[in-house]
Amino acid sequence: AAKVAGRGGYRFYVEEMTAAAQEKLRLRGRLAGALERGEFRLHYQPQVDLRTGRVLGAEALVRWPQPGGGWITPDQFIPVAEESGMILPLGEWVLREACRQFARWRERGDPDWTLAVNVSVRQWEAPHFLAQVTEVLRETGLPPARLILEVTESALLHDPEGTQGLARELADLGVRVALDDFGTGCSSLGQLQRLTIGQLKLDRSFVGPLSGWPRDQAIARTVVTLGHWLSVPTVGEGIETAEQLGVLRDLDCEVGQGFLLGSPLPPEEFESRYLHPGGGPLALF
Ligand code: C2E
Ligand code: MG
Ligand code: MG
Ligand code: MG
Repeated sequence: AAKVAGRGGYRFYVEEMTAAAQEKLRLRGRLAGALERGEFRLHYQPQVDLRTGRVLGAEALVRWPQPGGGWITPDQFIPVAEESGMILPLGEWVLREACRQFARWRERGDPDWTLAVNVSVRQWEAPHFLAQVTEVLRETGLPPARLILEVTESALLHDPEGTQGLARELADLGVRVALDDFGTGCSSLGQLQRLTIGQLKLDRSFVGPLSGWPRDQAIARTVVTLGHWLSVPTVGEGIETAEQLGVLRDLDCEVGQGFLLGSPLPPEEFESRYLHPGGGPLALF
């Protein structure tokens, strides 16, 4: 290998690119039929009221289990699905399946859980998206006020006016919009002020470093305060330690999500753990 260094270095680079591109192509091919083959699953991660410790609802997270065990993570296949356009049917399946599940849980017990569903920018910008949401709610019987759609700041950056219009129409319908991974996308505060928003989700990169030091709290504190002034709750993502939980509670962050409070679970497990009459607070509180 040392012999071909120099020009070989270049060739190695090209080969690596090709391998990555081939891998992506392979993924894209397998992804194409995966929906028809019914290979996707949804897991549900609890969202918890940080004042009371009660479970408020859950975020639906798509999973793609693999035949040999294990799975390909959404961070790997969602970008590929976005590129190929496959995110449109996949996203529609996620929305319908999650709404159906929550409507069922609603009948069975807790009437007030909210469901958060991730929506990719491609879905968000599809002309029929509002109609699709309306139709899925009608079809599944889930009340619009139980649904929160999570979209990242990039939607706002890409098409501020379209996003403002859609957010308003969804709000008219009774559906809330959450800004996911908030703080990482650099949307302007002016645009944010014009947006009919229901929730801010503080990105976990700002939750990770939380400690008693003011500097480590700067972003979290600012986002929570912004939420207060906009009259929308903030959801702290990726809470893993008691210290992070303590700081967020001290900052008056309303809602929390993270492995400490509960990992994403398949529906049967989510149900047996959290769906019981009265749904008491988590033991942590
Ligand atoms: P996200 O929407 O920000 O979801 C939160 C991610 O953080 C999830 O990863 C969740 O499992 C993970 N997480 C939760 N608590 C903790 C924690 O305490 N520590 C750490 N380190 N991670 C935690 P996941 O399920 O792998 O999803 C990754 C991303 O893929 C999501 O980020 C979302 O952007 C996207 N995604 C997942 N499901 C869907 C979907 O149905 N549709 C679309 N369009 N995107 C999805
Ligand atoms: Mg999300
Ligand atoms: Mg997020
Ligand atoms: Mg994320």
